[in-house]
Amino acid sequence: MDQLDLNPPIEIEKLVELHASVHAFPSDIPNLDAVLLGLDASDNHVFVNTQRSPKRRRFTMAHELGHILLPWHQAHELICEADNEDHPDDPDLSHKLPGSDPVSQEIRLQELEADAFAARTLVPKRFIDSFGASHVPEMLEKLEAAEVSIPAGMRALAEGLPPGYVFVMLDDDDLVERVWRSGPEKSGVPSVLGIYRGTKIDTGQALRTLADHGWAWHYNRRIWWGRADIDLQVPEGSPEWRPILEKLCNSVTKNRAEANRMWASASAIGGALNNEVGEVKVERMAGLLALRLRRNEDLDPLVTSENFDEYVFSRARDLVLSAHKKRYRA
Ligand SMILES: [Zn+2]
Repeated sequence: MDQLDLNPPIEIEKLVELHASVHAFPSDIPNLDAVLLGLDASDNHVFVNTQRSPKRRRFTMAHELGHILLPWHQAHELICEADNEDHPDDPDLSHKLPGSDPVSQEIRLQELEADAFAARTLVPKRFIDSFGASHVPEMLEKLEAAEVSIPAGMRALAEGLPPGYVFVMLDDDDLVERVWRSGPEKSGVPSVLGIYRGTKIDTGQALRTLADHGWAWHYNRRIWWGRADIDLQVPEGSPEWRPILEKLCNSVTKNRAEANRMWASASAIGGALNNEVGEVKVERMAGLLALRLRRNEDLDPLVTSENFDEYVFSRARDLVLSAHKKRYRA
């Protein structure tokens, strides 16, 4: 689909009509968005549940187009529940077709493939790329052109951005309802900031830890967003971090016990990170380590010292080396 010159909002109904007969199918049956008949005979009929919201119908149409265009989808009859905003607790859509037998598994996989196809079609990667380095509130405004549900749009946005972004949808009490992050690291920004469903955003901690953060509106919802420098430019140098950390601690306090405490704390944070992320490139390790050290209020004197980066780089080099060794010992 990315080869076609299509700009959001994608005229999805017209696209589907190029490949299938589309029929209105108003229904109160829960979890039924569409029925697709005739894939196996290349005589496609899409019955769309017209009782759904316009955005959801758009996603459903794109989902059905996925079944039609992905050549290994060959069922005689498919009853589809397209990805939707009504299952916020269920990011992997495991409610779909329980059953663990191979046929159910295959159908469930095809449902997920159709959802992924739908997201890529309605929110194309090059559309996200065209946002460039816009400020986040502008990105969220531009994203509205795609006319998809907030979860579908936010997921596509997060997948298309460089690592380090986090987006949080808040409920009426300002508690975290949903979280999206860019980048592959599970141990990235949300876990460092302790952002979990039902909690409040600690903006003080965000201010200390992140490169940028703020609030924005997306459709009618309030979104909190943050951006961390998760990849740092690490110069060549030594992985001998112990003397560097010792010098750093002694330079920010004359109190011996205080220096020892900071040494132990900073050192332990590095060790824990090693277990958590395993093998990553040194730029990423440095970014993640700096995030974790900044998060810790007690380490403010270290973090604000001009020699802080020297320690981060050196420790990151060491962590990457030891993760590498551990892997080849195993
Ligand atoms: Zn389906």
